Amino acid sequence: MLCTNLVRDAELTTLCQSCGLCCDGSLFGRVPLLPAEVPLARKHRLHVVASGSAMEQPCAALADDDGNRTCTAYEDRPAACGAFDCVLLARHRSEGGPLAPRLEAVRRVRALLATVEASGLRSGSDYDELVQRIAADFARA
Ligand code: SF4
Ligand code: SF4
Repeated sequence: MLCTNLVRDAELTTLCQSCGLCCDGSLFGRVPLLPAEVPLARKHRLHVVASGSAMEQPCAALADDDGNRTCTAYEDRPAACGAFDCVLLARHRSEGGPLAPRLEAVRRVRALLATVEASGLRSGSDYDELVQRIAADFARA
């Protein structure tokens, strides 16, 4: 069981590192901050809003190494970051199963985002598919 849990944890990390949509501004514009989190957020040069109640995305702590995305402030990340699970992540955590289709779901949404951003179109089949996929897989679990 311990081994199964370790494998599952590694797969969840792989999934999030392929994604980063909850950090790069695709899903959220801001992350709420608790008052006690503001000094650490500033230390990591996160974009804290003037009131101190939130930080802006895309997050300054998100590193992207050829598509592999990591949080450079992981140990100090705000509570709201640690509390967020999207539907896709929660499903893999609870159900397990093959990782490949879930990686493919991330890949497809990132490809659609790139296409929609490049075209600037907020209508059409790519945009409709993007909205449907985000609602189905990347909403809060
Ligand atoms: S959107 Fe989901 S899969 Fe993607 S990084 Fe956030 S929690 Fe992980
Ligand atoms: S602090 Fe880390 S987990 Fe939170 S939004 Fe930024 S990159 Fe993502």
